[in-house]
Order: sequence, then C-alpha cells, then structure tokens
Amino acid sequence: MAEAEKNEVIPEKPWYQRTVEETFEKLSTNKNGLNSDDATERLKTYGYNELTFSKPSIFKRFMRQFNNPLVFILMAAAAVTGFLSYSGEDMLADTIVIISVVILNAILGFFQEGKAENTLYALQKMIVPQCMVVRDGTEKIIATRELVPGDIVVLEGGDRVPADLRLFSVTEAAADEAALTGESIPVEKTTEPIERDNIPPADQKCLAFSGTFLSRGHTRGIVVGTAEATEFGKIASLVKTTQTVTTPLQKKIAQFTTTLIIAISSVGVINFVLGKIFGYSYIYSFLASVSLVVAAIPEMLPMIVTAILALAGTVMAKRHALIRRLPAAETLGCTTVICSDKTGTLTKNQMTVGRIFSGGIDYELSGAGYEPKGVITASGKEIGKELPDAYKQTLVIGLNCNHASVAQKEGQHIVIGDPTEGALVVSAQKSGIFEEYEYEKITEIPFDSEKMYMASLHKVNGKRILFVKGSPEKVVALCKDQLGTNGSEKLQDGEILAKVSEMGRAALRVLAMGYKELPSDADEIDHADLEGITFTGIQGMIDPSRPEAIQAIAQCKTAGVRTVMITGDHVLTAKAIATDLGIIENIDAEALIGEQIATMSDEELENVVERISVYARVAPEHKLLICQKLQARGHIVSMTGDGVNDAPALKAADIGVAMGITGTEVSKEAASMVLTDDNFATIVNAVEEGRHAWNNLEKAILYTLPTNAGQAFLVMGAVLLAPFIAIFQARLPLEPVQILWVNLFDSVFLTMPLMMEPKEKNLLHIPPRDPKVKIANFLFMQRVILIGLAIAVPGFLIYNFFGAVAVGPAGEILDAHRLTQAQTAAFWAVLMVHFGFVMSARSVFRSAFTFSPFSNWWLIAGIVISILTRLLPTYVPAFSALFRTEEFPLEWWLYILPCLLPGFVVLEIDKLIRKKYREKRGISLS
Ligand code: ADP
Ligand code: MG
Repeated sequence: MAEAEKNEVIPEKPWYQRTVEETFEKLSTNKNGLNSDDATERLKTYGYNELTFSKPSIFKRFMRQFNNPLVFILMAAAAVTGFLSYSGEDMLADTIVIISVVILNAILGFFQEGKAENTLYALQKMIVPQCMVVRDGTEKIIATRELVPGDIVVLEGGDRVPADLRLFSVTEAAADEAALTGESIPVEKTTEPIERDNIPPADQKCLAFSGTFLSRGHTRGIVVGTAEATEFGKIASLVKTTQTVTTPLQKKIAQFTTTLIIAISSVGVINFVLGKIFGYSYIYSFLASVSLVVAAIPEMLPMIVTAILALAGTVMAKRHALIRRLPAAETLGCTTVICSDKTGTLTKNQMTVGRIFSGGIDYELSGAGYEPKGVITASGKEIGKELPDAYKQTLVIGLNCNHASVAQKEGQHIVIGDPTEGALVVSAQKSGIFEEYEYEKITEIPFDSEKMYMASLHKVNGKRILFVKGSPEKVVALCKDQLGTNGSEKLQDGEILAKVSEMGRAALRVLAMGYKELPSDADEIDHADLEGITFTGIQGMIDPSRPEAIQAIAQCKTAGVRTVMITGDHVLTAKAIATDLGIIENIDAEALIGEQIATMSDEELENVVERISVYARVAPEHKLLICQKLQARGHIVSMTGDGVNDAPALKAADIGVAMGITGTEVSKEAASMVLTDDNFATIVNAVEEGRHAWNNLEKAILYTLPTNAGQAFLVMGAVLLAPFIAIFQARLPLEPVQILWVNLFDSVFLTMPLMMEPKEKNLLHIPPRDPKVKIANFLFMQRVILIGLAIAVPGFLIYNFFGAVAVGPAGEILDAHRLTQAQTAAFWAVLMVHFGFVMSARSVFRSAFTFSPFSNWWLIAGIVISILTRLLPTYVPAFSALFRTEEFPLEWWLYILPCLLPGFVVLEIDKLIRKKYREKRGISLS
C-alpha cells in the first residue's frame, strides 16, 4: 500500500465540502478533543506526523568527493605514472602514493561532510516543533509529530499549521500560504463549507494546510490529514532536498583554489620545460611538476572550513544558540551591531504590577513575582475592602481582556501565556478580584505589536461590554471620558499622559484600560467600535533587567559591537531600562520613536542610525528599516525578533535571531539562529564563538598555505638552481613521492589540530573583523613567502651539505646510496621546520611565548603521530624502498634538529615587527 494512503482517511467527498458537524462525526471526535488512549491508538494506525526525507546513498556521497578539479589532476597523474610503471619504469610508489592521496582525501571529505550534515541535522532537531491541542478536554502542548487525525489543534497568529485542518472556530484568522501556493497575500479563513467541486487549496478557505502559517488571529481546527496525506506531503517529493553544506566562505575558498590550480599548473608546465632543459629526464621532470602542483594546492582547506563551522555550531548549541544555517557561524564573528528586543531578551519578562493610577489616585502594590500576595496602599495608607469604582474596573478589565492564567508548579507561581497579561491577573487577585469577575467572552480583537492594544467583548450581567487594554497613547486617543470618583467625568488626558511618563521614567511598562457598552445584540467587534470608550486607569509593571545582559552589553562595548534596543514599549520606559543596562548614558539620551521613523526620509534615517541606540514604540516594519539603514552604513547586523511581523527584518539582517521559548514558529523559520534561552547574553556568547571559529580557520589557512608554498619552492628552487649547483642536476632535494607525503600527512596531522585551538583571551577585546577582507591579503602573501623560504632553504642546505660529496661536477651521481641518505635527511629537516612553525602558528599575532605550548593536546598528538609515521619509510626496509629513503648516520641529527628553529623564529620576528608597528600607530590588540 502506498505511503500516502496509510495516513489518509479517504473521504467520499472532500473535507472542504463537509460541514463542521460532519467532520466531527466522520473522524469520531468533538470540540473537547480525543482522549489520550484513543490518540495513542490512532498514532499506531496512522503513523507519526512527519515527512521522511531520503538521503543520497552512501555510495553517491562518496563518489561526490571525487568531483573536484584537483582530484582530476591527481587521477591523470596516477594514470600516467601507472602506465609508466606498467611499461617497466620504477614508478610504483608514486602511483600508490598518488592514489592513496586521492582516496584518503575522499574518505576524509566524506566523513567530514557527513559530520557537518549530522551536526546541522541534530541542531535542527533540537528545535522540536510543537503545537497546542485539545485532548481529554484540556489544552496541552504536544510534539507536532504526535498529531493524529481527529485531534483538535489550537492556533494563534505566528503558529505554523502542524497538519491539514478543517477549521471550526475562526477569529480574524488569516494564513500565509506562500509555502504551498506561492501566494504571499494572507488568506482569510472561515468555517463555512464550500460547495463547488475541484477547487485548488488556495480557495479552500475552511481548511488550513500543513506547512503554512497563521499570520494573525485565532483558530481551532480538526486534524484531517497528517504526514504524507497532507497537501504539503503530497507535493513533498518536490521539496525533498537535503541540506547541502556549502557556505559562502567555502565557495570563496573553492574559487581561490581553482585560481591556484590554474596558476600552479602553469608554473608546473614551466617547471617541466625548465627541468628538461636543465637535464632531468622526461619522466623525472614530469613527476617533479606533478608533485609541485599537488604540493602547492591546499586540498584539505574546504574540508577544514566545514569542519570548523560545524564544530562552532556544536559549541554554540551548548551555549544555547542553535545555528540554523552554517554560514551564520562565520558571519557572527563580524557582527558590528546587535539590535535586540527589550522585553524578555534584555529583561527577565517577569512582570509585576507595582503602580496603578485611576480616578485621579495613585496606588502602590507590593510583592514580587506572580504570587498573589501584596499590600495595596494609596498615599502610604492601606486601602480597605471597598474598592473605588475606577480602580476596580481597571483591574476587572485587566483580568478579562486577557489570555494568561497563573498556576502553581512545584510551589512556584508561574504564568501560562504572556507575562504582561499574567501580571494583570495577579494585580487583580491581590485586590481581591478573582474568577467570579471573569465574564463570558463573546469575541475579541487579539493583541498585536502593530496596533498595540487588545479588545474583547463580554456578557456582563445581561449587557454587552467591550473591554480594551493597550498602550496608553493608543487607548487614551480612543477615549471620550473617564471614570472618576463620582462616575463618568471629562477625560483628563494631559494628567494621564503625565502619569504615564512618570511611570515610564521609573522603568515601568504601562498599560491603559477602558470600556464601552455595546448594543445588547452585538456579537462582533471591529476597530470602529472602539471609538468613544471610557478610560478607567493605568497599570504600571516592573520588568527587571537581566543581570547577565548588563554584563554582556559591557562586553560588547569592549568588543566594538554596539547594542541597540528596539522595543514596542514607551520611550521613557525604554530609555530608563536602557540606562540601567548601560546601552545609553542617561535617560536624557536621544531616542527615536516609531512615528518619527515613519516620517523620516531614507537619507535622514541613514544619518541618525549611527548614533541612536534606543528605538521605542516601533512597529515591526520599522525594524526592517533600521536594519537596512544600518547595513547601508556598512554594518553587519544581528537582529532579534519573535513575532510573525518580525520575519522580514530577521531575513534581512545578516544574522536573524529568533527566540526559542517565546518566539513564533514563523520567526524561527526566518532566523539563522535560535536562542534556546531567549537571552541577550547568549547572542554575545555566539559572537565570541563565531570569532573563535574564524580565528582558528585563519590559523589553519596561515599554516597550511605557507607549507604548501614551502614544498613548491623546494621543487622550483631546485630546478632553478640546477645550472649553478651540481647536486640539483642529479636529483631534487625531496623525491616527488616524498613531497606528496609531506603534503598529505602534514595537512592531516598538523593542520586539523589547529581547528581545536582554545580561545585566545582577547577575542572580545578587539574590533570585529571586516568580512570584505580577502583571504589572499598582504599578511597572507607575506607569510606565504617568508615561511615558504624558511622551509625550502633548510631543505636545500641539508641536502647539499650531506649529498654534495655523492655528486660529480657535472651532476653525475657517484654514490647513489649517500645521495638517498641526504634526501632522507632533507625530508626530516622539512618536517622539523613544520614543527617549529606550527607551534608559533597557533596564534596569528601573539607571540608563542604568551601561551603554554601544551594547551592544545590535539596538536601534540599530531606531532607525535607525524614523527611515528615518518619513522616507517626511514627505518622499515619495505617502506624505504617504496619511498626511496635510506637510514642515515645518527650524528646527522645534530644538523637536522636545529631545523626546528627557522619557521618558528621567522614567524616570531614577523609578529614582533607587526606588534611594534601597531604600537607605533596606537592600535592595541590585547
Ligand atoms: P516589547 O515586546 O518590545 O516590549 P510589545 O510590542 O510587546 O513591546 O508591546 C508594546 C506595547 O503594547 C506595550 O508597551 C504595551 O503598552 C502594549 N501591550 C503589550 N502587551 C500587551 C497585551 N498583551 N495586551 C495589550 N497591550 C499590550
Ligand atoms: Mg512583546
């Protein structure tokens, strides 16, 4: 039976033609949902609600590793040497080594790629998609994969639709179905069945489809299809792609390598011609050229890039930042501005109402957290049981126009829902207003950060009363009068807004409440109904700053990263908290509000983004503007967001950061990083890890490429020196097969450990890296040449020193045995230079004497392994024959060991000069 049919309840007529009752009946379910046992049973029948993606076969993935120009060159070389050794030339070793290089490279590439893919996959899985269902009559959150047909799903704006649903309750709900239909305008949803036949999903308005998003409103629906039986599942074969892990940096490096291959191949051809002119045999010249080409190309580099980024992703995940796109790990290190939400990210989002103003009187509420215990005072005196009307109405509205509830868990009072609303429940309870004041809700206009208010219609003692709560500016603008000590009186909006400012300065988040009686048959409300409401009061709530955010902001300052607060809250509240956090100097610092942004020209805004650090009363679209203007000024922007409307800004930012706990699924989808703890400090940690990753990558590049150059210099140099020094006419200092060896094993054993280098202390003490800086910059070129020489010159010297006696004046070989010993000595000398070099290459700018030589055990292990493997061709006869080496007298070591120095010393001097130069120009690095 086909997969699709397994999960499907095959309808005789499509779901959109059925009424809600029919659907309930057909799926044997009702508004109260399935019971848990039934759900478990159904799960067995229908299977998990998830699409299975097929991975390319192992064989295919392995073969993919051979698809690269470098490998083509190597394989061509192997074919030629193979053919030659078949026709009697002594070239078996070269063929074997070249083929081993190809295979080893493929194996390492294969595993590395697999590991990176698994890391990404694991990180994705940590963001478990969840949804709210009704089961056993109560609302609960379950993993999306456990949904079964017949389940009742509850959706709010921002939620991802977890399965195909037949909707039976809809409040202002619209869905963004672009993922399914390509249509980007939200589709209004209804509960009414549609009669027509064969209509496309886009028109099936009483259904919500898996994989789309509810962009606003509330809705409930019955699950009618899961997994492959959803509309999305049916087309999923089209989207069954696995993530390919190529980052821009990798592409950059691949391009760089291709250019290198072309350049080096040309040099190889010249080398071949010269070699021939200077008297080497055809075959030897050819081999020398092949080794030159292979030696000079950093074949491990692309793999190292993926490995480092995947590693960074894993480390960041441990520090609560989940990377959704690998390149983000790299870009993070370049961040120059972090734009952050206030509530929940910079603050704890633990709201406690501390002040209320109503009927012209100021009240103070004591107590912290959500425990409904506290004393209410007015002018220092505790108030009695008889609550003044305006005060009481303010609290009743706060309690009713509300989605949150407060529950007890392990002795703690916690909020289920929005903490802002939770605080309003608690303030009502503290005043003795409990459930008996909760009135039946008929309908509502949900809160969104665009409108900044919420309204709900209730049945109150036979009347229809509209309750409104929201930002004071919005609510007061809608009010016609206010509730005073003796009933309704003239609205004192000046006084109210002055109170709002006063509370804002005290860092309180302020919400205003109002109400209006509607006709007794009213059962719908829209924005026009809100005109002319009666103001009752305001409630001001404390939301403490996160102490770790204060520290993180200070860290950002030293790291050259600016923190910008973007919030929907009142400008004074925002500035008071920003002052507390250290984002601005004091509450009088300049700030912008949403309305101002809306009236500014692009140019004006671009001019101020450099200096403004607090944006208040902003709507999500302003976030996008701020982000774009910062980018226009050359900034690399990290932007946080949690709502549906934040998605464009998250996408536009260089690093979009979504909130793992409070964030909507839409925002997580749009983000490149998800914070599992919603904490600002986590972003800063991720920036640090991003810098660390780059730092280690830079070390790997600045180690590998100079060693490649060293080997290239060895070959080219020998050919160029041949006319002048007899020994270079006889043989190269290193046999081609040895050069291949150096190139292969060195990269693996000495470069790979560099990606495990511990963090340098000053990571957050230097300005961000400029992402535009090229890989092949001045520093790079200089190191390539200096170190290249530091490797090649000792190689020449050792070879000449021990081998000169074995060669006659015209380059004729007098003592082949001795000459081979000299080559073996040079082979070791080069390794020694590498050891010295790598110990200093552990830091790009800091002297090797500032850190312990033993702080990276991977590297020590790498060195030991390189020595052990090198002993094979030197002392094991079978290998010696293959690699054309020969054991040499022990006392030669006296000359070989000092070769530890040149690489080390040259690099240390280079760093010292750079340091002096920087000091002279006043640039500090630590
Ligand atoms: P932020 O998350 O940046 O602090 P929001 O967009 O959540 O800002 O809120 C903006 C304003 O909307 C708040 O200052 C408050 O006055 C009002 N507000 C916040 N939450 C609610 C809510 N649940 N109901 C009504 N109004 C709200
Ligand atoms: Mg908010």
